[in-house]
Amino acid sequence: MSITRHQTRSAPGPPASPGAPLVHVVTFGCQMNKYDSELVEGRFRRRGYATTDSMDEADVLLFNTCSVRDHAEERTWSWVGELKRAKERRPDLVIGIMGCMAQRVEEEVFKRAGHVDLVAGTRQFQNLPHMVDQVRERRRAQGATHATSRLIAVQTDEDVCVDRTDVAFEGGSHAYLAVMRGCDLSCTYCIVPTTRGRVRSRKLEDLLKEVRWMVAGGVRVITLLGQTVNSYGEDFEPPAADAVRGTGRQGRASLADLLRHLQEVEGLARIRLITLHPAYVTRAFAEAIRDCDKVERFLPLPAQAGSDAILRGMKRGYNLDLYRRRADILREIVPDIELGSDWIVGFPGEEEADFQGTLDFLEEQQFLVNYVFKYDPRPGTHADERLVNSVSDEVKKERHRRLLDAAERVQRRRCERVLGQEVPAWLERVSERDAGLLLGRTLSGMPVSCPGPAYWVNSWRTIRLDSASSFGVAGFEVNAPAVAGS
Ligand code: SAM
Ligand code: SF4
Repeated sequence: MSITRHQTRSAPGPPASPGAPLVHVVTFGCQMNKYDSELVEGRFRRRGYATTDSMDEADVLLFNTCSVRDHAEERTWSWVGELKRAKERRPDLVIGIMGCMAQRVEEEVFKRAGHVDLVAGTRQFQNLPHMVDQVRERRRAQGATHATSRLIAVQTDEDVCVDRTDVAFEGGSHAYLAVMRGCDLSCTYCIVPTTRGRVRSRKLEDLLKEVRWMVAGGVRVITLLGQTVNSYGEDFEPPAADAVRGTGRQGRASLADLLRHLQEVEGLARIRLITLHPAYVTRAFAEAIRDCDKVERFLPLPAQAGSDAILRGMKRGYNLDLYRRRADILREIVPDIELGSDWIVGFPGEEEADFQGTLDFLEEQQFLVNYVFKYDPRPGTHADERLVNSVSDEVKKERHRRLLDAAERVQRRRCERVLGQEVPAWLERVSERDAGLLLGRTLSGMPVSCPGPAYWVNSWRTIRLDSASSFGVAGFEVNAPAVAGS
């Protein structure tokens, strides 16, 4: 799963009706946060707000936060800190902190940033417009002070699923869709189970309804999101004896079933998945990918480390042998599958030999995409409380560099393998740097570029690949006239 390194801002919505209050959401972190921000914007639009891309104009400013590493939290504090003066100038402004960091630090937000008005945890998003109303009401009460008008809601018993289909989808041709929330695993380094709570899969019918709504709003590519997206449905009750049975455990609906339904949605061209866990890879899942040509043949299946001792310390729930067997199932059933991985270097107890194991496993599995992180102790996690952060920052930095270098070499080789082939690619956008160049992804998830007219965006094209780098491939549309000298 990629964690954005710079802040993203919500897209501006339609022109505001005169006098409509304006909301702006700043999103830090992963794709799930981006999805949640869109959901929150939709809730506000339903209440008569309009979205704005200007922080200066906004009446309500929300920060959707990330806690996975300390750096993400520090960036939020620094952004929020800078708003102190804006708040002095415009006391009517409502500033809120939502999401993972809000859930983790709760009241501490008010101690560190006294100008913040509300704190909403990860299962409270649907209540945000109401919370803003409440803050305003409290402000109007006699003798109200900033301290008496602010609000915190971090309860986790509510389900965040809301029907978004009552306002128009405005996100463009690509959309994220959270098929589940939370995580039932407990990797020792990870704060997510604390901040996001236990798994709640969404009903298959609700997901199909949301997808149809997105497609009607112009979406052609959907990325299905979950911390362990291939465990979708594991938390459902098993079906009654006479009910429809799915391909999941004891007849539950599974991700394989969802993919088969999505394959049938007219107008939807492409389905992506983030993030998978080896323990939940099944033959039924691999067969669904094989049978559904809309599903991208790229799976982020993080290994995290290439040493059984370290995987045990991380409580990842698999060893290298199990990982291999699950990857083999995927490759046997879907021969053109490509895998990606996240890696953590410098986990407590990681010796040079363990790290060498990670380099070897990267080489053995030939991962196409790799995200490399330095272990960062997160307060409250098992690893932080019980294990010694034994690897120095210097060594973490050095291993980070070495693994990135190795990943680049593997990625380049992976991309070079397909040179000379003619492959189907979905073209997504015009390059910002070169208006004559279109960017997209092959069916195996390789970033691809080719020259072509803008109207090819959002269509399948067959590309003959003639060059490769560590980050993707380039070529020409097979039916395009040859370019002199090429
Ligand atoms: N659920 C996904 C999985 O199991 O792979 C990933 C979720 S996590 C938000 C995204 C990535 O951040 C992880 O795959 C891991 O590599 C990295 N990560 C999580 N906690 C970390 C920590 N304490 N220090 C460094 N990296 C961490
Ligand atoms: Fe965190 Fe592990 Fe759950 Fe991923 S699977 S969110 S790394 S606890």
